[in-house]
Amino acid sequence: MSQYQAVKGTKDIFPEESAQWKYVESVVHTLASLYGFNEIRIPVFEYTELFQRGIGSTTDIVGKEMFSFQPDPQGRSVTLRPEMTAGVMRAVLQHNLFSSAPVHKLYYIGELFRKERPQAGRQRQFSQFGAELLGVSSPAAVAEVITLMMHVFESLGLKGLKLRINTLGNTEERFRYREALQAYFAPFNEVLDDASKDRLEKNPLRILDSKNPALKELIAGAPRLYDFLNDASLQDFEKVLFYLSERHIPYEIDHRLVRGLDYYCHTAFEVTSSELGAQDAIGGGGRYDSLARELGSSSDVPASGFAVGMERLLITMEKQGLLASLNHPVPLVFVVVQQQELADHALAIAWRLRKAGISTEMDLAARSMKAQMREANRMKAAYALFIGANEYTTGSYSLKNLVSSEQQIFSLEALLEFLHESATKEVVD
Ligand code: AMP
Repeated sequence: MSQYQAVKGTKDIFPEESAQWKYVESVVHTLASLYGFNEIRIPVFEYTELFQRGIGSTTDIVGKEMFSFQPDPQGRSVTLRPEMTAGVMRAVLQHNLFSSAPVHKLYYIGELFRKERPQAGRQRQFSQFGAELLGVSSPAAVAEVITLMMHVFESLGLKGLKLRINTLGNTEERFRYREALQAYFAPFNEVLDDASKDRLEKNPLRILDSKNPALKELIAGAPRLYDFLNDASLQDFEKVLFYLSERHIPYEIDHRLVRGLDYYCHTAFEVTSSELGAQDAIGGGGRYDSLARELGSSSDVPASGFAVGMERLLITMEKQGLLASLNHPVPLVFVVVQQQELADHALAIAWRLRKAGISTEMDLAARSMKAQMREANRMKAAYALFIGANEYTTGSYSLKNLVSSEQQIFSLEALLEFLHESATKEVVD
């Protein structure tokens, strides 16, 4: 065993799991492009101010979870990205993308870093996929990102996920609501825990997010943001719900859903899985029109997006038995050398097969035939191709089907053709 261990809160992903990740990622790529989203890849670190400004200094992420450092002694602090949205918006504004088109539909898959206390489903390095629809304020836009997210879940075969949805109104409505909440909670200052006392000053909406059971009743009696909304905000929300119903996407309205980040407005949503335990959120998102202005844009940019945690998605898939048949690719052919003098000839044949697009493995350690066969079976190769003196002189090769044990003789040409056909068939199957 190595004396070195992976850093607490990080994980290694071995080949069996990689195959599962690649499968989920391929579904994300396919569906995102079906909905007209194009992939964006942004740096893993950004200047710290971007997140302070873009996520909000009262949030847990900025307050205590960022991995920040100073690459140069006198230089500006940088931070490993704790979420993607601020970086995506920074990239779009920096490169002036709105000068070429009014709407941008972008998606991403990538690693994020948060200094949280590691536990099941909560890591310090984790991955998300997500999408951002920038430049459209209509409720159809937020409905589109929710629909894409739910379509991914459905395509992966996930069952029983719960979509909760709420509206946070516009800035002015939230301001009035904030005051009402402060007035409501102020007399209970004694009862509030330290985190909630802090939030009461800075961001009272976040008290509603509290998981403290002692505050449950108090929170349940708090005023509802919904009652502070004007007609336009209510209609916007109704329209989002209309689109979801029309698309047979079940949802539950949850007036307590506020989400952690400061920049949300109007629709906010979260998807949970009962399979996950304490950290039950699989993904979430909403509208965030004011982010662009926070980052220096002269006007708001209407924006909607979602982010889904890959690790929690995979844990849920595992629990629902959706990963059982996903394995890393196996070789179609294992080349078995009968006499070691022919090893170089066997290597040349293996190379020919690979050039012809046939996945091929071979023992490079000059082991016995028995050991080579054991290896072919362990790797679950479909065929063993024997290279012996006879094959070498006659140019005909014997190929054994390792499932049926059937053996056939081929010329090299015919072998390539036969295996090529099998390889294509495997891909189609
Ligand atoms: P957020 O950006 O906090 O809204 O998170 C979106 C999704 O990312 C969550 O629903 C989780 O699935 C996932 N996520 C957030 N934080 C972590 C973490 N520390 N470890 C694993 N997954 C996370």
